[in-house]
Amino acid sequence: MSIKKFKCPKCGCRVIDEIMVNVTQTTTIEGVDEDGILIFGKSDTDGGKISNFQCHKCGKVIRNKDNDDKPITLLKELAGFIMGQGKK
Ligand SMILES: [Zn+2]
Repeated sequence: MSIKKFKCPKCGCRVIDEIMVNVTQTTTIEGVDEDGILIFGKSDTDGGKISNFQCHKCGKVIRNKDNDDKPITLLKELAGFIMGQGKK
């Protein structure tokens, strides 16, 4: 079995950012320490949807050539994109 890894078409970076919109993050603030640093407790995210995926380094938005070059918003499409990389 071979695993394909994401590679940014522009800069070759292998880290991808998932940009989300309308996310509510619930964070418990435990308090503030003597240096004025907030101490966070548990946090949780709720709701939201994927706006797009982009390269962590150069910010290139990953687009689906098979769908009018629209930004990819589905994990399934992202998997397809990565699978299609390198075979041209
Ligand atoms: Zn990049």
